[in-house]
Amino acid sequence: MAQLSDDCFAFGGALLAVEQAEALIRQRVPAVRETEEVPLAAARGRVLAEPLRASVNLPPFDNSAVDGYAFRHADLGQAGATRLVLLGRVAAGQAAQPLPSGAAMRIFTGAPMPAGADTVLMQEDAELEANAILVPAGLKLGANARSAGEDVAQGDLALPAATRLRAPEIGLAAALGRPSLRVRRPVRVGVFSTGDELTSPGQTLGLAQTYDSNRFTLLALLAGLPVAATNLGILPDNAAATRQALHAAAGEYDLLLTSGGVSAGEEDHVRAAIEAGGSLVFWRLAIKPGRPAAMGVVGGTPVLGLPGNPVAAVVTFLHLARPLILQLAGALPEPLPRFPARANFSYRKKVGRREYVRVRLLPSLPMPLAEKFEREGAGLLSSLTASHAFAELPEEVTAVAPGDTVQVLPFAACF
Ligand code: AMP
Ligand code: MG
Repeated sequence: MAQLSDDCFAFGGALLAVEQAEALIRQRVPAVRETEEVPLAAARGRVLAEPLRASVNLPPFDNSAVDGYAFRHADLGQAGATRLVLLGRVAAGQAAQPLPSGAAMRIFTGAPMPAGADTVLMQEDAELEANAILVPAGLKLGANARSAGEDVAQGDLALPAATRLRAPEIGLAAALGRPSLRVRRPVRVGVFSTGDELTSPGQTLGLAQTYDSNRFTLLALLAGLPVAATNLGILPDNAAATRQALHAAAGEYDLLLTSGGVSAGEEDHVRAAIEAGGSLVFWRLAIKPGRPAAMGVVGGTPVLGLPGNPVAAVVTFLHLARPLILQLAGALPEPLPRFPARANFSYRKKVGRREYVRVRLLPSLPMPLAEKFEREGAGLLSSLTASHAFAELPEEVTAVAPGDTVQVLPFAACF
């Protein structure tokens, strides 16, 4: 378990700035310690527990980058084409005979360079004669040849510890001959929904009931992180039940995620349950949608109380749960990707809160156009499925006008 002391955070303010929340998480949350060896096929998304050093050269030997003819550059004449006698042939996977000077060898991509040869002429550029080739002037020393270790040299640091393993990193480990890698164990996350109105998909919808979507949204968001997630079901809007459930689950998980029941209404019990069972780190974030988010520590386990409105749950997941999980996982920070777009809308907002507006991105130069989703409710799941990105309106901004540059967070890179 990654244990936190109940008072490891200190915050007294009313609305916590997003950046402060992120800084608290970065500075105070320890990573899980346990590691495990996983085969490459199961390593995607996991966090490297130790540096990966190259135990071999990549590529392992000098080889040809093209199909063509290998020779010594020193054999080329000063001006005009040079005629070289063709001697031998080497294909990928074969051993090459040494190349005498004044000769060229037929060679294929990935085949070892014959001893003595240093340069390759692409077959498309060769003029063939009987038993000889004409090499045009102008070829540089080493052209079309790859040298041993030019990608990664033996002994080099190929990947630092804390790297998240994605397709390129897994490919590199394989290229260096590693069948498996030592990674941190997954972060154990327990996910609750809260609300007497909720029922699970697949059940019949009763009077005044609505289907629980957040649990499934959150589990899907977690699937992109180095997490072993557990679906812990729906908590009733009841103080004792909420407190007991959080307390009972705390020891089993590295993080508890709840959604709903964290506002100021008397049917909202998550904040009080955190306070009763441990301590509250903060409640209420300077963000829209998502203001009522809470964070606390119960029995040494961090608890994130995300708001119930589905869009607010997603926004706060990205700003709180995602960095917290990456930190617990021992991964390097992964800032949410942002790029500039041209606003195609007018919007007014309050100062002092960061806002996320759902936008569609339309291709345009020099930057895409961000077109606002027509409606603004934090409960509209279809506003997410019909959008491409969040436009991020910083705390100090009070208005956006058509033509303004805004930063957007593309869903494809966030989820
Ligand atoms: P709350 O913060 O609990 O008052 O919830 C705010 C709104 O979000 C209410 O309309 C809830 O019905 C809705 N809501 C809360 N939790 C969920 C959930 N898990 N799935 C779908 N909607 C939810
Ligand atoms: Mg509720």
